Amino acid sequence: MCQLSRHGSDSHADYLAKGARIGGNGQRWAAAGVLVLVVAAALMGVLSTQRLAKATDAAAASTTLTDLYRDARFYALMADDEYHEYVSQRDLVDQFEETQALSDLSDTLEKLTTTPGADVRRVRALQVEADHYESALNQVEDLVLAGKTAEAMRVDMSRVDPSAGRLATDLTELEEAASVASRAHLATAASQGRWLSGGTPVVVGGTLLVALLLFNVLRRYRRGVELLATTDPLTALPNRLALSQSATAVLDNRLSAGTRPSLLLLDLDGFKDVNDTLGHHYGDELLVQVAHRLRGAIKRGDVVARLGGDEFAVLLTDGGESVGRLVADRIRAILRMPFTVGQLSVDVGVSIGIAVATTEAPDLSALLRCADVAMYVAKETRDGAVLYTREHDDRTADKVRLVSELRRALDHDELVLHFQPKVALDDGRLLGVEALVRWQHPTRGLLAPGQFLPPIDGNEVMDRITTDVLTKALRQSKTWAELGERIPVAVNIPTRSLLNLAFPVQVTDLLDRFGVEADMLCLEITESSSMRDPERCISVLHTLRASGVRISIDDYGTGYASMAYLKNLPVDELKIDRSFIARIVEDPQSAILARSIVELGHNLGLTVVGEGVEDASVGDLLRKTGCDSAQGFHYARPMPGDDVLSWHYGRMPIPTQVIPVQRRPEPQIHA
Ligand code: C2E
Ligand code: CA
Ligand code: CA
Repeated sequence: MCQLSRHGSDSHADYLAKGARIGGNGQRWAAAGVLVLVVAAALMGVLSTQRLAKATDAAAASTTLTDLYRDARFYALMADDEYHEYVSQRDLVDQFEETQALSDLSDTLEKLTTTPGADVRRVRALQVEADHYESALNQVEDLVLAGKTAEAMRVDMSRVDPSAGRLATDLTELEEAASVASRAHLATAASQGRWLSGGTPVVVGGTLLVALLLFNVLRRYRRGVELLATTDPLTALPNRLALSQSATAVLDNRLSAGTRPSLLLLDLDGFKDVNDTLGHHYGDELLVQVAHRLRGAIKRGDVVARLGGDEFAVLLTDGGESVGRLVADRIRAILRMPFTVGQLSVDVGVSIGIAVATTEAPDLSALLRCADVAMYVAKETRDGAVLYTREHDDRTADKVRLVSELRRALDHDELVLHFQPKVALDDGRLLGVEALVRWQHPTRGLLAPGQFLPPIDGNEVMDRITTDVLTKALRQSKTWAELGERIPVAVNIPTRSLLNLAFPVQVTDLLDRFGVEADMLCLEITESSSMRDPERCISVLHTLRASGVRISIDDYGTGYASMAYLKNLPVDELKIDRSFIARIVEDPQSAILARSIVELGHNLGLTVVGEGVEDASVGDLLRKTGCDSAQGFHYARPMPGDDVLSWHYGRMPIPTQVIPVQRRPEPQIHA
């Protein structure tokens, strides 16, 4: 505008042209600015991508080196094995294999001399050592053939053994160094990868302009990302994805090539202790060392992968059951040697499940499942390595699977309680409820305890179930109390808990936690459980009863407890088993038995409950025998806790006088 007023002669067209020129210049500047920015960003991207590519190339090279050193060590050890076997047995096959291994060793060393990054000076020294070693072997073998055993032994000790030792030590050192380098390169690649994932949008914008330049680099970048995606960053082992890629190839090959691949699933024993007591840092260090040893235990072509946590898998390309067992034994042996973590010596064990690929387990997921079953059997039976067979699936594994499914169910809070009322036989009033567990299974619906408890009887998962049931029962009791109803609740207790001296404390802790009085809880035990280890069990029962909890003998009449024995048990109640009760109307024998149990109970000062009352006639007869209370479908089926009060109020008038709620005293606030 200023210019226009000063140069009044400028035509409108000139003005527009000038404006357009200025605008055009501005656009060009802007475009140039944007271009510079984009190019700068792209250059940064390119630089970083190149660094990533370099790091991944270096990691790949170090991995190749690690593999070659390991191969060389493997051949050296194999030659040594075959040599010893030949010398002791003179089997020409052993000598042939020894020669073969020596030749493989020499080839591998030669290859190493031209591999980038190899320590050529040391490799050359190793070649000399290998020649020396070979000539020593030949000398011993000639002496043996000539019958000069003593001299052969002398040469064996003076030349062969030291030479074999030097070869193994040097190769182990070199492999270790290459493996450390590989991990370092991977770490660099990972950090570059992280930087790139943040800057990728900018880099992609720049890439459009310098597409040609970046094309090649991007390809390398993808390779790097792939390497990252298939490598476990902690141990530099292949991860689950890489295992599945290798397995697909190996298993596809099975039928056409007639190979017998197998899969080993490993889980460290005692790793959690290391993690918990020494910390994650040392746990990680231990895993790195384990990975290193595992890598040394397999031959080229086989795959060892880390699946996560302390779980590893080994895929063997051939050899079926025998090679599977052999490698499992080797792994157990090499992991048995103590590890040095920090300054400490640490022992870990390993449980191994072995599964051989068959028509029934043709793919990786089936193999993993079978190996997993076998691995759990190995853990349960403390048998280091177990080969999967179908029987495992039928019996033990059913249980093993059930146990692990129940653990999962507990983690996801899938157990629910139903409550069955217990009523007085004289006036029908509600005396309490029995808590009965059910499993709200995600696919199978609501499962009754008979469908999942019997197989796991005695297993430690039972403890978690008991705690869960006790917790839920007491929480429900507290809820009722808050609504004004004092309803005692009974919980079924397995034998395991009665043998656990800490169980009473657990019970009183839970009572305290929910503020429920002890006499509101009744524990139902069976006769047989109290007979397992009577002394310990009676002592636990005494402690429980001393705290005020009530004890009831469940299913009475099905076990063999004598009257004298019963007298010694600190109990309050007897529950006559359903099997007698059901028949008392039509079978006089059952009626007599029930009557004598009632009398026995009363003589011992116990209250007696009839279980499984399904109709009024049974209830009437029970009442006439003097039985105190009853439970059964005739009165009520087990029901969710929320329904108990409406059931209760539905059969008797709502109490006019609500029983005061039992609460802990409110904390006093002092001025
Ligand atoms: P139990 O302790 O003898 O429990 C009574 C069982 O009889 C319950 O079966 C109940 O539903 C059933 N029942 C009640 N009245 C009648 C009736 O009139 N007729 C018939 N036919 N059956 C009746 P449920 O709930 O299937 O439990 C079965 C067993 O599982 C229980 O027998 C108990 O031994 C065990 N159980 C249940 N819950 C738990 C628990 O939380 N922990 C433990 N350890 N065991 C439990
Ligand atoms: Ca019971
Ligand atoms: Ca019972």
